[in-house]
Amino acid sequence: MKVMKFGGTSVGRPDRMRSIAGLITKDNESKIVVMSALSGTTNSLVEIGNNLNKGEKSKAKELIDNLKKHYEDFIAELLKTRDGLAEGKHILEEHFEFLNIILKISYSESLSKDILAQGELLSTKIFSAYLRESGIHHIWLPALDFMTIDAANEPQVGSIKVKLSHVLKQHPDEKLFITQGFICRNSRGEVDNLKRGGSDYTASLIAAAVGASVCEIWTDIDGMHNNDPRIVKDTVPVHQLSFSEAAELAYFGAKILHPASIWPAQYFNFPVKLLDTMEPDSPGTLIEAKTETEGAKAIAAKDNIIAIKIKSTRMLLAYGFLRKIFEVFEKYQTPIDMITTSEVAVSLTIDNDSHLEEITKELEMYGRIMIDRGQAIICIVGNKIASTPNVLIKIFDSLSNVPVRMVSFGGSQHNVSILVPEEYKEKALVQLHHGLFETVKN
Ligand code: ASP
Ligand code: MG
Repeated sequence: MKVMKFGGTSVGRPDRMRSIAGLITKDNESKIVVMSALSGTTNSLVEIGNNLNKGEKSKAKELIDNLKKHYEDFIAELLKTRDGLAEGKHILEEHFEFLNIILKISYSESLSKDILAQGELLSTKIFSAYLRESGIHHIWLPALDFMTIDAANEPQVGSIKVKLSHVLKQHPDEKLFITQGFICRNSRGEVDNLKRGGSDYTASLIAAAVGASVCEIWTDIDGMHNNDPRIVKDTVPVHQLSFSEAAELAYFGAKILHPASIWPAQYFNFPVKLLDTMEPDSPGTLIEAKTETEGAKAIAAKDNIIAIKIKSTRMLLAYGFLRKIFEVFEKYQTPIDMITTSEVAVSLTIDNDSHLEEITKELEMYGRIMIDRGQAIICIVGNKIASTPNVLIKIFDSLSNVPVRMVSFGGSQHNVSILVPEEYKEKALVQLHHGLFETVKN
């Protein structure tokens, strides 16, 4: 069995939905197809929720009406038979009636999750109507029946597996299942989600739960590129990455894949393929356990980083100092991305400033604190990168006119991270690309 996940832009236009129907019926292997909401829908639903929260009901109503119009046009173009169109209209009625009802009830956090869930429910139901109209036999699976998160908001593959096997057992002879990405139930049984961009994570969790042969993530680009294509010209897709390399790139800015989707693949050892819906025959990127080549493979960058420096002579010859510092971050559930130390100072970075004030206050007990906002982490990923001759020299040569605030390397075999002020990010990406990959360009 394989899992195929289609993102918002891949389902966002009727012609694209039609090509997906072609892609999922190409071979005879059993499939679970995971879909995102049509592109733009989740953003609109977030906005609807925000307006309701502010008490702006007429603005929320206007957004709901605009969204409905978008879906009416969408089904009119997609569904061609009388029955198909009637089914499409029925689906819109059901979900837009729900959105109109929530205008009348008081807003809550859990209601906002119900609102967000409409996007994936709509896209998969509309796609299912299209498949039925086209005579493609399939089963529509409600993700809310098997995708769950625990009290710490974490999905557990074991319990997803139990529920999903139970659901699948009810359809022993079926080969094609369509389900929703992103949405799930929490430990209180309420509708919840796996956070923005979480459909990739759904696909990977399902692949782990069913022991899939592969988890295919279909998007609108031909794989993970060796640099940010929005900033650097002549980037090329990287054809093969190890799980660690891919995790690092996804976490540090490559938007193509939700970073959490790597761990199920790594743990349960199935390959993940990043493929292009518009160019289905291009090789894309294969993410698997092994690494093929050595040296730098790709560069990614993450903005909005805050650097924190703790300077203290008490650190000199002291033990337990780092533990105390880490405990402060643990207490405020703030992950640290990069860290470097000298004998009298520690520098580290975070990207979540929601508890920065409390963190700073507590850290002041241990030394003088300096905070630099507006930093960017540039992450260079590859296999045995630090021990491959010349890679480090090329990196630092490329950055000779960029002020480097921190460097972290040696933490793993496959990554060098560099912190620069955000305004130097583009320059750093372009120059590193030139310095590291100009010979690879074909
Ligand atoms: N529709 C959700 C979002 O836009 C989930 C996803 O597309 O992955 O965040
Ligand atoms: Mg996505």
